[in-house]
Amino acid sequence: MAAEVQADLHCHTTASDGLFAPGDVVRLAARIGLRAVGITDHDTIAGWEEAETAGETTGVEIVRGIELSTEWRGRDVHILGYEPAGGSALLRERLASLRLGREERIKKIVDRLSRLGIPIEPEEVFGVATGESVGRPHVAQILMARGYAGSIGEAFERYLGRGAPGYVPRPKLTPEEGIDLIRATGGVAVLAHPGVGGLAGRIPFWVSAGLQGVEVYHSEHTAAEEKTLSKIARDLNLIMTGGSDFHGEERKPGAKIGGWGVSMAVVRQIKETARTGEGSRCTAKRCGPG
Ligand SMILES: [Zn+2]
Ligand SMILES: [Zn+2]
Repeated sequence: MAAEVQADLHCHTTASDGLFAPGDVVRLAARIGLRAVGITDHDTIAGWEEAETAGETTGVEIVRGIELSTEWRGRDVHILGYEPAGGSALLRERLASLRLGREERIKKIVDRLSRLGIPIEPEEVFGVATGESVGRPHVAQILMARGYAGSIGEAFERYLGRGAPGYVPRPKLTPEEGIDLIRATGGVAVLAHPGVGGLAGRIPFWVSAGLQGVEVYHSEHTAAEEKTLSKIARDLNLIMTGGSDFHGEERKPGAKIGGWGVSMAVVRQIKETARTGEGSRCTAKRCGPG
């Protein structure tokens, strides 16, 4: 755990799969005395604006973020991007095509379920998704409501998970593509919770692809993982970030807002890196030798 948590740099809102609206997340942060909060919804930046409005009235500084879903050898790899230029046409365009991919996937899943005798309309699923990032948990909610499964876990096991009859793989970015996208928009690319997927060993490879930071402090990291990751980050001269991965207690128990995070010095470091163009510095791999 960082010495003093002044900034929780990993929070989800209703723009993706969090339970609280962006403004409410910021007000929660203010209430517990945080000075900054990172809004890092899955594959969308739709929560920024409302968060920033709440930031102005509460005095909480907003760190603009996003958590990109990527995949490496069948494993989920989440890439955090901080302070990418929000108006960047490239970012918006790529996010829109990712969203389209998510919607196409839902239609395919619904198709498979109807062949199993479970009639669901894609529109119902989109209706359940409060934010923009529609996914399998929303299908699971409908399956539960209709009595096809007793829990989200059961819905995944019987219908939606890998190997189940309703499973449809999602078209995903590779981690390198995710890092590249963040860097191309001038943002700071950070590997989210490497302890969760056991990804620490891959960090040097992704650094050569442009990765600039590692999320060392996270609600699912053990003390030992935190220690290993801070050593790797120090050795490779990476920015050490941290956050709870707040989704709301009922959605993600134990990930309390402000329970994990960093000092304001790290917030300055991130914003400085994005502002000074370090974010768009050439890496050997992207720009070629010399
Ligand atoms: Zn994640
Ligand atoms: Zn997250």
